[in-house]
Amino acid sequence: MSAELLNGTRLAKRIRSQIRQQLKKLTFTPGLAVVQVGDDPASSLYIKHKQRDCEKVHFHSEVHRLPADVSQSALIQHIEDLNTRADIHGMLVQMPLPDEIDKEAVIDNISPAKDADGLNPVNLGNLLINREGVTPCTPTGIIRLIELSGEEIEGKHAVCIGRSPLVGKPVGLMLLNRNATVTYCHSRTPDLADQARKADLLIVAIGKSEFITADMVKPGATVIDVGINHINGRAVGDVKFEEVKEVAGFITPVPGGVGPMTRAMLLENTLKLAIGG
Ligand code: NAP
Repeated sequence: MSAELLNGTRLAKRIRSQIRQQLKKLTFTPGLAVVQVGDDPASSLYIKHKQRDCEKVHFHSEVHRLPADVSQSALIQHIEDLNTRADIHGMLVQMPLPDEIDKEAVIDNISPAKDADGLNPVNLGNLLINREGVTPCTPTGIIRLIELSGEEIEGKHAVCIGRSPLVGKPVGLMLLNRNATVTYCHSRTPDLADQARKADLLIVAIGKSEFITADMVKPGATVIDVGINHINGRAVGDVKFEEVKEVAGFITPVPGGVGPMTRAMLLENTLKLAIGG
């Protein structure tokens, strides 16, 4: 059996087109600000993609580049200034930040009403009590990809491998909020393969190339591969795609699965914040 592909590139394109339609009803232009500290080339590339996405949906976007040795207080002051700007509806601080800066303190200072990444503790707290407003981009994109499969989430056994605050932990909560039964696995889980084999929905976000092999997957399962790793200049996921696709019912490719959906969800969050929803 060969799994059906969950095409994130195509779904993201459809979402951008829906955003353009919704924009026609607005009398103002949604604005996204991205704050970059230093000039890390990978971060610069990610930001360029985000700007290009904004152009595609006719959002206003700004990049605020601060020097690598900016103090934490100056960075926070910059964020507070953006919090008060009426033409900026969403903002994010591009990670990683220099070691000297307390990342959590920075995110704490992004107003929850302008938190385009959905990573402020207020928005994460709302997720915990099933009051989903602005939710983190990658987990939200994963939910959309599962919905694309047409498979019900309610009643399914979801196994999340990885428990980061960016991906694993919030996606597990989002699945739980949709009445899945959720198991979390991480680096200290002793029987990970056994747990993975029980999954109807297997979400893998660990950052280890081709870690999940066919023998760890229940036949017919939906497999969402979040990982982005590089082998000889080629992007590969956390799932051994070629063999797992023969066992799974649905599978996301890398690239072209979760990545484009993460970017589309940033646009959706910005629109949501702009219209105050
Ligand atoms: P992270 O913060 O490094 O967290 C990795 C998680 O994986 C941790 O919970 C860790 O467990 C767990 N883990 C690591 N090795 C493991 C192993 N051998 N067995 C079981 N669990 C293991 O990473 P992240 O930010 O969540 O990102 C994970 C991957 O997704 C990376 O490849 C990243 O590039 C990718 N990513 C992709 C997108 C996208 O849009 N496609 C977005 C975000 C991230 P412990 O907690 O026990 O340490």
